[in-house]
Amino acid sequence: MSDPVSEEARALVDSIQRVAVVGAGTMGNGIAQVFAQSSYEVVVIDPVDQALERARGFIENSLGRMVKKEKIASADAESALGRISFETSPEAAAGVQWAVEAVPEDESLKEKVLSALDQQVADNGVIASNTSSISITRLANFTSRPEAFVGMHFMNPVPMMKLVEVIRGHRTSDNVVAATLELARRLGKEPWEVADYPGFVANRILAPMLNEAFYALMEGVATRESIDEVMKLGMGHPMGPLALADFIGLDVCLTILEVLQDELGDPKYRPCPLLRKMVAAGDLGRKSGRGFYDYS
Ligand code: NAD
Repeated sequence: MSDPVSEEARALVDSIQRVAVVGAGTMGNGIAQVFAQSSYEVVVIDPVDQALERARGFIENSLGRMVKKEKIASADAESALGRISFETSPEAAAGVQWAVEAVPEDESLKEKVLSALDQQVADNGVIASNTSSISITRLANFTSRPEAFVGMHFMNPVPMMKLVEVIRGHRTSDNVVAATLELARRLGKEPWEVADYPGFVANRILAPMLNEAFYALMEGVATRESIDEVMKLGMGHPMGPLALADFIGLDVCLTILEVLQDELGDPKYRPCPLLRKMVAAGDLGRKSGRGFYDYS
């Protein structure tokens, strides 16, 4: 963290003016907001009009809450919002120096999105993925610039959470890793570099813990409230594991566990059948209105 930033990495970050955020869901919204609050022009790209409308509303509300809490001035909130544009076409990323991909955790979808993004981002620009668990080295192969491809794993909710895991793919250059760390600091975050390994650090540890909570509920060890309160009161966690899983999205939790199971090959990562059943039923947590708790 205290390493001096090389001139080259600093110059790369200094060159960034416009940023593209691809995917206007839970994470894309927050990522766009923090870039805009740090004075970057941001284009948010999502093929779904309603997703873009929702994204605008989320960002507006989030900035509004910050103004109410006197964390930012209302003029700053307005200018941050003014720096964000919302587009449906991938071509809206033309010439950007930095792009962050935040589409759903599905490798074939990411392949499609990243290869299209590679055509648009400036030749000397960088593409980052916010993937929770898919190999950065593999995703890099979907672009023509594996040395300028990096993992930039923000945490949810992005405007509140300080951590960014910066994941070095097998071919990511030292300069791009250094620039990503520096950029994250300029966004007011605390970045930590991790190697490209399934689940990186955060989800390698978090996902099995959440999975164990799903099993505990399925096996009738305790009620959902008891499980959450035990972990809050006993471990000092700010949210219980079931409420946290609802917040992350149960589909996202399932995909992360599948990646850990497939890539590490250890049955201890097998996703809980209750989780599979809930995802199949469309109970995805907060975003669908129902998960372990009811949000309707
Ligand atoms: P989400 O489902 O909330 O949003 C994804 C968005 O991508 C949707 O708006 C969808 O319309 C859009 N999309 C689909 N196809 C697209 C395309 N071809 N081009 C552009 N946009 C497209 O997903 P999310 O929870 O924001 O997750 C996004 C990524 O961030 C995933 O890789 C996930 O693993 C990762 N992540 C999620 C969390 C979390 O807590 N939810 C935390 C860290 C990282």
